[in-house]
Amino acid sequence: MAAAKTVAFHTLGCKLNFSETSAISRLLENDGFEKRSFDEQADVYVINTCSVTDNADKECRHLVRRIQRKSPESLVVITGCYAQLKPKEIAAIPGVDLVLGAAEKFNIVQHVKELSKGDSAKICSCDIEELTGFNASFSVNDRTRSFLKVQDGCNYNCSFCTIPMARGKSRSDTIANVVNTAAQLAARDVKEIILTGVNLGDFGKGASGTETRENFTALVKALDNVDAIARYRISSIEPNLLTNEIIEFVANSDRFMPHFHIPLQSGSNDILALMRRRYKRDLYAERIALIKTLMPHCAIGVDVIVGFPGETEDHFKETVDFLQELDISYLHVFTYSERANTRALDIRPVVPVNTRLERNKILRNLSYMKMQYFTQQHVGQTRKVLFEKCAGDTMMEGYTDNYIRVTAPRQPLFINYIVDWTI
Ligand code: SF4
Repeated sequence: MAAAKTVAFHTLGCKLNFSETSAISRLLENDGFEKRSFDEQADVYVINTCSVTDNADKECRHLVRRIQRKSPESLVVITGCYAQLKPKEIAAIPGVDLVLGAAEKFNIVQHVKELSKGDSAKICSCDIEELTGFNASFSVNDRTRSFLKVQDGCNYNCSFCTIPMARGKSRSDTIANVVNTAAQLAARDVKEIILTGVNLGDFGKGASGTETRENFTALVKALDNVDAIARYRISSIEPNLLTNEIIEFVANSDRFMPHFHIPLQSGSNDILALMRRRYKRDLYAERIALIKTLMPHCAIGVDVIVGFPGETEDHFKETVDFLQELDISYLHVFTYSERANTRALDIRPVVPVNTRLERNKILRNLSYMKMQYFTQQHVGQTRKVLFEKCAGDTMMEGYTDNYIRVTAPRQPLFINYIVDWTI
């Protein structure tokens, strides 16, 4: 009998990419491939790329070089957002055998079977306008938590973003399918599901991107009835799509955790308009106020971009002042960087890179203080912690309902259980 083929993966970028790598891995494993770690020898290496990561092509080149050094005969497959956006550039990297765009990544088994080590890379990619269909994906981290992709693509046109060009229009799974997958994950002993998508609040467009019979609120309500899943989190939701109804539902649910991640991007209305975001700062502040009125203990994470073109010192100060006033828990700070084919490239004046980095540092410091303050407010309280994994030989870690990380002396019996814990 021939030995099983082996495959190894490397994922760049967001949780969505991680859940898709897991799905691709399961497809290959179901076909008889054995999974290896990326550092080991494998017959096939798959790199799932990201378009948001700076230096995506440099990182890709570096990884391919690493593979070539240790295993020159192995097949190298590149997929993901960057592969959709720049297939020719990737195909030109020495050592790459196959480039799979957005439409083809879930047909990987067929493509790999037809592949042999050759001189030039094969490109399988379609025009993103033609992309339809939805491929459900989930990742399972140490079985405790799962990132479940329920939506893909985006119909918005934020001026800095390449994701709609890499992932196509907004499409989603059906509520029935998601509920079914949640039940399957529960059967695998998963305790917490993080609902993931590109523009999650836009759930309901169906696989073709046109149907509107279902929506995100209905999804949340349906999942709340899946008894065997103890916890859900909403990974990130646009402020204009986070309705009062969703906030009120979460406030009254035992399963949806008091934790939101809501992109703000800028606290200046001028910059929000240049970014083509679909809300103003007042709406954002109203959402935060309602959340904190109904759930004073709720964790709120915020994405912010610094150094967007046109962002003056005054605009940045507006953002800092706005964030200081907001009752939020932590920030994810992104430094603006130019992306090909985006409208932001035409906006002037460009902010010098060192100013962008200084602004990033200021907001990272603010984030640290917000996090300290939020955690401090809960010291002495008893909250429910889902312990996920052991950290080293002596410790274990997990998260409270409101996303405070807890590290405690290792007690293996607590792993994958929800425990009352005094912070
Ligand atoms: S909402 Fe804006 S930033 Fe988010 S994926 Fe869509 S276009 Fe990009």
